Amino acid sequence: MGRDGRVAARQPGAGAIRGYGVGMRSRPCCRITCSRRAEFTLTFDYRDRMAALGPLAFRAEPHSYDLCAFHAARTSVPEGWTLVKPVPIGGAPA
Ligand SMILES: [Zn+2]
Repeated sequence: MGRDGRVAARQPGAGAIRGYGVGMRSRPCCRITCSRRAEFTLTFDYRDRMAALGPLAFRAEPHSYDLCAFHAARTSVPEGWTLVKPVPIGGAPA
């Protein structure tokens, strides 16, 4: 049964709704005034007071925010928090 499902999902045109079923790779930036395409995901870990900025998450998580490259580069965290950037953004030195 599992094999049938995989084959069906790979058929062209199987996804009726554009953007769904293909990993939802085109979500907009979560900033209200921004209409750029999200390229990074900011995830908050409230217990450890850490914010992690990484490549766009495969799916939306409860404490994650999608950001475009511009807003990702400008991200800052509250005092006492640690911002982790697994990947360089923009290439501009801090
Ligand atoms: Zn943005």
